[in-house]
Amino acid sequence: MAGEYDVLVIGAGLAGMTAAMYAARYGLRTGLVEQMMGGAQIINLEKIENFPGFPEGIAGAELGPAMQEQTMNAGVDFIMDEATAISRDGDYKVAVGGEGEYRAKAMIVATGSSLRELGIPGETEFFGRGVSHCATCDGPMCMNEVVGVAGGGDSAVDEALTLTEYASKVLLFHRRDELRAQQVLQDRAIQNPKIEVYWNTEIKEVLGENTVSSVRIRNVVTNLEETVELTSLFVYVGLTPNSQLMNGLVKPDNAGHVPVNISMETSVPGLYAVGDLRQNSAAQLIASAGDGATAAIAAFNYLRRNSAR
Ligand code: NAP
Repeated sequence: MAGEYDVLVIGAGLAGMTAAMYAARYGLRTGLVEQMMGGAQIINLEKIENFPGFPEGIAGAELGPAMQEQTMNAGVDFIMDEATAISRDGDYKVAVGGEGEYRAKAMIVATGSSLRELGIPGETEFFGRGVSHCATCDGPMCMNEVVGVAGGGDSAVDEALTLTEYASKVLLFHRRDELRAQQVLQDRAIQNPKIEVYWNTEIKEVLGENTVSSVRIRNVVTNLEETVELTSLFVYVGLTPNSQLMNGLVKPDNAGHVPVNISMETSVPGLYAVGDLRQNSAAQLIASAGDGATAAIAAFNYLRRNSAR
């Protein structure tokens, strides 16, 4: 299978789906390449409270499919495939997938980010056997157990709160003496009797036999080490942009984010990067949706300019 489009979008998170929906509504033949179902990381979010229009919040598992339905209703060709490389062929941008090549004069890359790892002994070994990146998926297996969360940002605190619905105790290990998370989440966590924050604490090692049984931690102020028993460790220590696909065409910054202008256009005309992937993203769902809309409108104008040449 191969396809030629006006606009090809890669990645069906909120940024990519918004971009594709907008492009199709502008009358552009739009393909959206995604290897999984639409929604990407948001599918795992138990409750999204800061997306406008949902005063009671909305589950990611509800928002993702609804957004996909809206995107497909707009006429987007949803292509289930993994894009493994992108390149230029004259005016065209080409994505190589397992099913063939997809070509378009404008391409919007929305490959998002992946959860970062701590990089400590035992983390990889016990992944799926107590170490997890998904509280919503694995939390229900921790009923009445003591679990740990690594990190101090919105993700760590949000997911620690989710875990209190299942675990008897949630130990939040943070490397500093203040959290980075939004105040509303911090207040909830501090007031929740099930959450105990280990301040100034780094996790040195994940320990266990077949599954996780404890972590070795160090207080960075006192330098004291101790072993704390728990059955699971949920790691939320930031995001790494998935920019590998663009490496041959544009130069990401040191953190891996792709520089763009205010239209989301990269240094390659007609090639856009949106959402967590791009430099200076606010890394918020609503901002990613805005990026998608901005890039689609810019792509429409780019194609119109080029067809008039
Ligand atoms: P983040 O904001 O980058 O926070 C990462 C946290 O992990 C920080 O507290 C950081 O500590 C800590 N950390 C980083 N590397 C570490 C290491 N090697 N060892 C131990 N701790 C480490 O990442 P995030 O929480 O995943 O959030 C990413 C973006 O998504 C943010 O823009 C956030 O606002 C957004 N988000 C929003 C919501 C929401 O609105 N409800 C929910 C989730 C995520 P320091 O604080 O010391 O740097």
